[in-house]
Formats: sequence, C-alpha cells, structure tokens
Amino acid sequence: MNKVLIVDDSSTMRKIIMRVLRQADIAVESVLEASNGLEGMQQLTANPDIGLILSDVNMPEMNGIDFVKAVRGTHPKEKLPVIMVSTEGGQAMMDSAMAQGANGFVCKPFTPESIRTALEPYVH
Ligand SMILES: [Mg+2]
Repeated sequence: MNKVLIVDDSSTMRKIIMRVLRQADIAVESVLEASNGLEGMQQLTANPDIGLILSDVNMPEMNGIDFVKAVRGTHPKEKLPVIMVSTEGGQAMMDSAMAQGANGFVCKPFTPESIRTALEPYVH
C-alpha cells in the first residue's frame, strides 16, 4: 500500500488510526490527513496515487457520506477502496455509506484486529 488518506475531524482520532495501522502490521508508505470531506477531496486531487481512504462519517463542511459520493464521481470502488470508520454503526448509516460506494465499515471503538480484517482485502 502506498498512500493512505485518513479523513476525520478529530486529530486525536487520526493519530489513533495511524497508530492502529502500525499495530495491525499494515505496511503504509505514507499517511495523508484531512479534517473533513472537502479537505479530503483536495488531498485526493493533489495526490492521485492515494490507494486507500479511511473516513469518519460525522464531520463539518462535508460529512463522510457526501465525501464517498464525491470520491465515487471520479474513482470507482474497484480502484480506490473507502472504508468508513464511525461510532454510528447503525444499519441505516451503514446502508447509506455502502449505497454511496463505500467498500466497508469499521465501528469505533476498534481494535487493530478489526482494522486489519476490514483492510485485508485491499492491502497488498
Ligand atoms: Mg467526527
């Protein structure tokens, strides 16, 4: 895996996710961060080689659902996996994320194991 983009309005959560990626033994060349969906789109435009996105759902400016929808306007599901990371693990939330083209879902609080399981199909 080359570049991973972490989108979350909590900088603490972004740090936790980065640490968990290391603990889960997921080889990542570099990690980019964004604090909402709009910034996420800017990062994606500036870094077309991003290979995986982990995104929160509840964020200001542009939430995770709208962000996935925006990403899918240019990057198909097969080319760029987007995994949602959120406390809102409700079925309706999960359904709308998947309907917009998310590849998977990890509920907070997560463990290195649950992150590894969610990312396994996409990490080479
Ligand atoms: Mg949030």
